[in-house]
Amino acid sequence: MNRYIKNLNQDTHIRKGKKMESNSYDDPNTIEGCSVPVRANRKSKPDPTVVNIGGIRVGSSEVVVIAGPCSVENHEQLMETAKAVKSGGGVILRGGAFKPRSSPYNFQGLGEEGLKLLFEARKETGLPIVTEVMDTRLVELVAEYADILQIGSRNMQNYPLLKEVGMLRKPVLLKRGMMASIEEFLLAAEYILNQGNEQVILCERGIRTFETSTRNTLDLSAVPMLKHVSHLPVIVDPSHGTGHRWMVPPMAKAAVAAGADGLIMEVHYKPEEALCDGQQSLSPDEFSRLMVDLKKIAQAVGRDIYQHE
Ligand code: PEP
Ligand code: MN
Repeated sequence: MNRYIKNLNQDTHIRKGKKMESNSYDDPNTIEGCSVPVRANRKSKPDPTVVNIGGIRVGSSEVVVIAGPCSVENHEQLMETAKAVKSGGGVILRGGAFKPRSSPYNFQGLGEEGLKLLFEARKETGLPIVTEVMDTRLVELVAEYADILQIGSRNMQNYPLLKEVGMLRKPVLLKRGMMASIEEFLLAAEYILNQGNEQVILCERGIRTFETSTRNTLDLSAVPMLKHVSHLPVIVDPSHGTGHRWMVPPMAKAAVAAGADGLIMEVHYKPEEALCDGQQSLSPDEFSRLMVDLKKIAQAVGRDIYQHE
């Protein structure tokens, strides 16, 4: 077959991964068969980007752990979970107020009430907040409460939303779309960078494959690849990446070993009562135990876990 193709004067080298439309392979912004857009490209900025959230530096030698419930449910749930996250060693609190649920009949989040509770938890614990924004009309509101705005997987290619958060000067946590290639992921980041917002954190959260035993297939090879081709910090979500509580610790450890700059994990003070994603949420005890192990893994790869003094 190869000889046949050679006789036709065609290249027999088959590249893994197809490039996007107009960029040619000798494009100066192309690295190893994956076309990397210019602002996200390490070639245009050799130093790694460090996103600073009130002194917590994502993209430095220390691994940053973000944890909290899938969604904000009520005052007690959020405060108790936030305290558990803090005492276990998490340094940023996650929690969804506007939830992108696959079914319209499932709990959609508390909306602005949820943002207010997050703000209160921040005041109580001192932990900065990351929460999702799903709608361009709500960017301003969410930005008033959040320290980091999350763009969820389902919105990774919502270009008006990417442009809107690109106009902010606040950190953005961009989750990989469940069907997005590395190239498409970086192009989505480029939309934000292109508007002048340079504080972008990339998050690998699993992609959809033929596998059904896990919720998604956590693509940990995306971590070294993204860090190789881009200067942006990369974190991993082993909760949505696997869908199983018992798989979160091994995959969190593997993510740190693979070079992730941080983790975002679901923790709930009573996972069995969670309104959303309880099956993949760690209990406070499980979270604390994992944090002890993560420290050893981080140190084994020449890093550490970021801790408040
Ligand atoms: C989340 O982190 O709350 C979430 C909905 O995740 P994803 O967008 O990755 O599905
Ligand atoms: Mn969730």
